[in-house]
Amino acid sequence: MVDDILMHSGMMRPSAARAMATSGLVSRRHRRDIAAMSYSARKTRKRTHQVAVGHVTIGGDAPVRIQSMTNTDTADVKATVEQVVALAEAGSELVRITVDREEAARAVPHIREELDRRGCDVPLIGDFHYIGHLLLRDHPACAEALAKYRINPGNVGFGAKQDRNFAAIIETALEHEKPVRIGANWGSMDRALLDELMEKNARLPKPKDVREVMHLALVESCLRSARRAEELGMRADRIILSAKVSEVQDLVAVYRQMSDRCDYALHLGLTEAGMGDAGIIASTAGLAILLQEGIGDTIRVSITPEPGTPRTREVRVAQQILQSLGLRAFTPDVIACPGCGRTTSGRFQELARDIATWLAWQMPEWRQKYPGSEELQVAVMGCIVNGPGESRHADIGISLPGTGEAPAAPVFVDGEKVATLRGENLAEQFKDIVADYVARRWGPSPARRETGNQPRDS
Ligand code: SF4
Repeated sequence: MVDDILMHSGMMRPSAARAMATSGLVSRRHRRDIAAMSYSARKTRKRTHQVAVGHVTIGGDAPVRIQSMTNTDTADVKATVEQVVALAEAGSELVRITVDREEAARAVPHIREELDRRGCDVPLIGDFHYIGHLLLRDHPACAEALAKYRINPGNVGFGAKQDRNFAAIIETALEHEKPVRIGANWGSMDRALLDELMEKNARLPKPKDVREVMHLALVESCLRSARRAEELGMRADRIILSAKVSEVQDLVAVYRQMSDRCDYALHLGLTEAGMGDAGIIASTAGLAILLQEGIGDTIRVSITPEPGTPRTREVRVAQQILQSLGLRAFTPDVIACPGCGRTTSGRFQELARDIATWLAWQMPEWRQKYPGSEELQVAVMGCIVNGPGESRHADIGISLPGTGEAPAAPVFVDGEKVATLRGENLAEQFKDIVADYVARRWGPSPARRETGNQPRDS
């Protein structure tokens, strides 16, 4: 049985599975099963403790969550609410805000109230440094309005105060039944711990590289703080860990260690990925390696927005990372060929862009009306020599005429040719076919899809 072998091999890429499904080698009855198979070179995700942050679960069998952070002054309620709403609407499932002083702590409950009034239920995470223990103690309404507290063990104080201040935050979290993220940071490493580990390392017959000791210090800082939190009464399913660095190789090394040594839910991200393409690529490189290894329960892409670009860009990048790894689906994929000498016009690129923009506009409505439609794959190819082969692998594909080809565009639905489009309004005709397909496949009566597609020419 071809499909049994494929099902159990776990080694088939989605496109290869679709090719097999549409190749005629298997019966129609088995095509959908094969097409639905996912590529599993990715390691099984590590099962961590599941943490509830407000109504959002992180870790365990929950999907990898996306979070982001505001850059407004938290004391400015209006500006912060606007940005939180924008981030949440873009798809951020948790939003972190800075709580750095009295005015910010006082603003937090008002921000929560206003978000609730606007129907935005995204959990808020408070980011505390140095005086978090005081702010949380003095502003119980702030402590209650937040769904999680983020603590950096490297900057809660020094010496005896460090343990006292850390304990005070944990006690407030216990009192309000809130989880915490213990987030060590390369730039604010616990110096005493680093010195201790450096000294130990120097006494070894073969001392480790300094960078390795720094990795160990970050991991130890998180794990020792997590153990201390547990000693104080915090349950393991209320603790999330992170160890932020700014280099991809450091990120990978640190999180591999962390994942090997504990079962706490892990938050991944570079601390300062950088600006523009460089930041996006560095984040993608680091997060993809770890997620591929089954490490990571929630991610943040910390890119510095370029002037004029919205803060929400980091959320879209995070979605793209998860979607391209096959971990989650957020918007339909539009696959376009790169173009070559067979096609001299940019028409297919324009169509690809037009379709992608149109799909993005449709998604808020489709997500409600047609759950699952975010998994749609659309192919837009530049010629009818090689295009049809590729567009057969998508749910819906169109091949535009290339140089010297007849002015006709064949359309494939589920691997079968259903139409040949002609004329000036190709894009509109094609959108009608896509909309019809989505309604039939993910609408209230999916069984209707089984009736098949009737070939039609226009
Ligand atoms: S589909 Fe056609 S135009 Fe596009 S890259 Fe392939 S051969 Fe070139």
